[in-house]
Amino acid sequence: MRTKIVAGNWKLNNNKEESKSLIKSLKKAIKNLPLENTRVIVAPTFVNLSSSVKAAKKSVIEVVAQNMHQAKNGAFTGEVSADMLKAIGVETVILGHSERRTYFNETDAALAEKVDAVLENGMETIFCFGELLEDRKSDNHFKVVESQLSNALFHLEAKDWGSIILAYEPVWAIGTGETASPEQAQEMHAFIRSIIEKKYTKEVADSVSILYGGSVKPANAEEIFSKPDVDGGLIGGAALKVEDFTGIINAI
Ligand code: PGA
Repeated sequence: MRTKIVAGNWKLNNNKEESKSLIKSLKKAIKNLPLENTRVIVAPTFVNLSSSVKAAKKSVIEVVAQNMHQAKNGAFTGEVSADMLKAIGVETVILGHSERRTYFNETDAALAEKVDAVLENGMETIFCFGELLEDRKSDNHFKVVESQLSNALFHLEAKDWGSIILAYEPVWAIGTGETASPEQAQEMHAFIRSIIEKKYTKEVADSVSILYGGSVKPANAEEIFSKPDVDGGLIGGAALKVEDFTGIINAI
C-alpha cells in the first residue's frame, strides 16, 4: 500500500549502545507527532538489529536490515539469510544500495535473486537504484533507471508489488551534499511510475511508494516531499542525529 515513509540508513555507523540510545531519543522526539499513514524506519547494521528491535518496541519505529543474502543457508561466509532476519523480528530489508553495487559488486541479476528471496519469505524490500553522474551528464539517466528496474524487478507479478518500496537515489547525490532538485526528483519518480504502469497497470504504479534518497536534510526535505510522486525519503547522514532525522520526519 502506498504510504509515506522516512527511512534512515545508518550504514556502517553506531555501535550497540549508540544504536539503542538513538532509537530511544527518536522514540521520545516523535511520540506526539501525527504519523497516520507514515512509517518511520531505521536500518542499523546486522549485529545491532536484535537489540535495536528490542529498543524500538512499543513505538512506531520499524527496524530493518541493510542487506541480505539470497540463499536459504549454506557455505556463504559472512552472509545473513532472510530466515535469520525474520527470526529476530526483522521483516524488511534494503537491497541494491549504490554502495552495495559499487563496493561489493552487486549486480542486477544478483539483486533479482535477492528480491525473490524476500518475496519467498513473505518479507518486504526497500529497493534502491539510481544513475551515476556520468549517466545524467550524457542524458542516459532514464535509460539507466529503466534498465535497473526491469533487470531486477520486472520479472515479478503484479501481486508481488505490495512488498516492494522503491528508493530512487541518484548516486551523485549520495553523501555529497548535492541533492537532486525537487523537480529532478519529481521528473524521475513520475517516469518510474509511468514505466511500472506500462509493464503492469496504473493501479500497481499508483500503489507503490517511491522514496527519494541523496543528501536529504531538514532544510530541503519539505520541498522534495511536497512533490506528488515523492512518497518520502531514504536518509543517510541526516539519519544519524535525532534532531535532523526528526526534522525530516516533521517535513512529511
Ligand atoms: P545521504 O545518503 O543522505 O547521506 O546522502 C543517502 C543514502 O545513501 O541512502
